[in-house]
Amino acid sequence: MKKKIKKIVIKVGSSLVANYKTGLPKTNWINSFINDLSFVIKKKIKIIIVSSGAIAIGRKRIGFLKKKLNLDEQQAAASVGQIYLINNYKKAFIKKKVEISQVLLTLEDTIKKEKKINAKKTLNKLIEKNIIPIINENDTVATDEIKFGDNDRLSARVAEIIKADLLILLSDVSGLYNKDPKKNKKAELIREVKKIDKSVIKASSFTNNYFARGGMKTKIMAAKIATNAGCGMIIVNGNSKNIIQRIFKGEEGTYFYPKKRKKNN
Ligand code: GLU
Repeated sequence: MKKKIKKIVIKVGSSLVANYKTGLPKTNWINSFINDLSFVIKKKIKIIIVSSGAIAIGRKRIGFLKKKLNLDEQQAAASVGQIYLINNYKKAFIKKKVEISQVLLTLEDTIKKEKKINAKKTLNKLIEKNIIPIINENDTVATDEIKFGDNDRLSARVAEIIKADLLILLSDVSGLYNKDPKKNKKAELIREVKKIDKSVIKASSFTNNYFARGGMKTKIMAAKIATNAGCGMIIVNGNSKNIIQRIFKGEEGTYFYPKKRKKNN
């Protein structure tokens, strides 16, 4: 990670912010994440957060106890849970005197020309004012066709439109492994990926089961989008202490090198 970092997008996975059993937000995790983030704020690096967790928090409150929810049930749960999710971020950030905003987007909003321009302008205005936008997928109108439940790709599209230098995927695994870490004690973490080739796709299949939603597949898709747009991407375990500071020290995760940014990009 040699490039000077001015703008970052951080994607937070559901398992980090929501307790699946109780349906409660993980307030402790959110508070320590924001403490960890303070040093990035001090460096005047612009930050955008893409956070999942609305469904996981909302489902219990609405009484949906079965394991698999239909699309409309997930959407209703997201609509309830989103308030609690954003409120927890707000409480934590206000202690640091940082203003946040809520932005709900579909993947389509970041691809279709006119919508994309508006999203870009709004996000740029917010970060210019040192406000941290907290984005989630606009679950009410997202459909199966446009891949509902895919904040990995959404965060990569956001990184693309605001020309971020780094996309951080905070998840519950430490990155990509060269062998299946469940079966093989000698499995090693791949620290750097210069090109997303067949060996990377193969490595991504080993760690797939660890993820609740999109799995490693959508993370590799996100890596393709981000790196093609000239943005580096890193997959790290969000449960490691002071993970954000450690990323900047180059100590953690799997880093995907960006391609050269195209002039008109
Ligand atoms: N938007 C969904 C939620 O907040 C999650 C999407 C995802 O995990 O990619 O619950």
